[in-house]
Amino acid sequence: MCPATDTGKVLNPMELIAEGKRNLFANGMEILRARSFDSLGAASNGTPMSVSLIGDGESSVKTDSIWECTTCGACTEKCPVFIEQFPKILKMRRHLVMFEDGLKDEKADDRVQVYDVSELLAKGLQPTKP
Ligand code: SF4
Repeated sequence: MCPATDTGKVLNPMELIAEGKRNLFANGMEILRARSFDSLGAASNGTPMSVSLIGDGESSVKTDSIWECTTCGACTEKCPVFIEQFPKILKMRRHLVMFEDGLKDEKADDRVQVYDVSELLAKGLQPTKP
């Protein structure tokens, strides 16, 4: 069903959710201790967790699996208990890009072609429409 799993990649959407659950159990007491008495949900931002949500440990979501999702949505469509896997994957991917330099191994020049429009116009060239 998942094209990543079916082609032998690390990503398995069901296992990814289970890894998240194991991470919550691993950090549960710290979250409970850190949050205020009358609040619900996660501890406040900045509370260090001993087990990282994204990483290589038993109770962490594997970094490779986050990048292998094609966002096709098949997992969400077929899930018998209505878990929305790929929006969670996208949030973790966003976190890696914004806070963990998830794309730092690639050269910026390879990812984005940046044109200086004024330079093109000075040369008499017109930017082309994509
Ligand atoms: S959206 Fe779901 S089924 Fe599709 S690649 Fe990602 S995890 Fe697999």
